[in-house]
Amino acid sequence: MANTLPLTGSCQCGAVTYEVTKEPLASMVCHCQDCQKLSASAYSTTLAVEADSLNVTGDLGCYERVADSGRKNFAYFCKGCGNRIYHQDPDAPALKRLKAGTLNNASIPEPKAHVFISRKQPWVVIPDGTPSYEEGMPPADFKRIFSL
Ligand SMILES: [Zn+2]
Ligand SMILES: [Zn+2]
Repeated sequence: MANTLPLTGSCQCGAVTYEVTKEPLASMVCHCQDCQKLSASAYSTTLAVEADSLNVTGDLGCYERVADSGRKNFAYFCKGCGNRIYHQDPDAPALKRLKAGTLNNASIPEPKAHVFISRKQPWVVIPDGTPSYEEGMPPADFKRIFSL
């Protein structure tokens, strides 16, 4: 990815800002209905970062939910404007899943995988050769794609 570190980003109102001090691991797109709701759009684009490389300034709220997979998914958002900033599974604290659209002036690296394409909007076209999954990604594939 061609962006210089640290990457910077913010919520829509600017009350929450952040820096990413290490190269993100990879980005992926999720087309599930929850991601359509949370992004208020057709899908959500997530940039996986090492947890200790994300430094957030500002007041975050936390929305805790358990995904259909049984995994916990804690969603952190700006209390002022409601913008999602990142998600984290408290049982896998090494990784944070940054909501890529909150980056400032940084190009989002091309997603390495698309998941839950069973819920994909029919007009979203996935590039040939990009791994895609009807539902979630098996943990082994996740580890390989994200080089964990
Ligand atoms: Zn805000
Ligand atoms: Zn999703």
